[in-house]
Amino acid sequence: MAEAKGTGAPKGALLVTGGSRGIGAAVCRLAAREGYDVAVGYAGRKEVAEAVVQDVEAAGRRGVALAADVADAAAVARLFEAAEAALGPLGALVNSAGLTGLSKRFVESDPEEMLRVLAVNTAGTLYCCREAARRMARSRGGAGGAIVNLSSAAATLGSPGEFVWYAASKGGIDSLTIGLSKELGPEGIRVNAVAPGLIDTDIHAGAGDAGRLERFTSQVPLGRPGTAEEVARPILWLLSEGAAYTSGTILRVGGGR
Ligand code: NAP
Repeated sequence: MAEAKGTGAPKGALLVTGGSRGIGAAVCRLAAREGYDVAVGYAGRKEVAEAVVQDVEAAGRRGVALAADVADAAAVARLFEAAEAALGPLGALVNSAGLTGLSKRFVESDPEEMLRVLAVNTAGTLYCCREAARRMARSRGGAGGAIVNLSSAAATLGSPGEFVWYAASKGGIDSLTIGLSKELGPEGIRVNAVAPGLIDTDIHAGAGDAGRLERFTSQVPLGRPGTAEEVARPILWLLSEGAAYTSGTILRVGGGR
């Protein structure tokens, strides 16, 4: 069983959904350097997920790449089974899998696309939290653990004219983080969220709006987009012993925005 060195962080391995790219990949790499064994969840890009596993192994830890659509509850159950079969009991979960859908005004929005965003971002996070809780809960023989969910500054900004449905999916993350922190605290499980602002990853190109970073930079008080690693660091802190009394918080990492 993995034990993060020096941090007193959760005993057990770490599963990161959306671990193949962006913020999730930065979490996987940093976590390995901090002593975690890491299961790298991904949707379809096997090669990039395996490259992250190589970096985990280069840091001296065990890693495994596992494909699963987090919007599929049965696939999520198989993901957790496979992660534990490879790495032993899980002590930590980071829910980073997510997408915005194509940027457009709400009147032009596509109901199927909206539903997909809600299914991946919000239901997917619920499904993963459920599998984690069933394994980590002390009343079920687990050792407790820590969960960090990816919210977004969009949850409070609303993303008007771009993807209001995405903002709504992240508002759901805030609510479920608060509720689960209260329900799972007595089970020894801390649940927190990080709400990034404008971060330099592929997600903006995925929204069909590659110029988005440049366009929104002027709205960021710190004057630049953040990096994936600048979000990964507070996530690793929330998993660590340093955050032993922190649960139910939504930590904004938005450069002041
Ligand atoms: P990204 O670079 O676009 O990476 C998305 C990740 O999610 C990839 O690993 C992808 O896997 C995975 N994924 C997508 N759909 C999935 C599905 N149905 N099932 C499983 N995995 C799936 O995104 P990012 O910018 O790192 O964003 C990570 C999280 O932070 C998201 O929840 C996002 O909403 C949130 N966030 C990002 C920003 C930002 O500015 N970047 C700001 C606020 C919040 P594949 O590689 O296999 O496609």
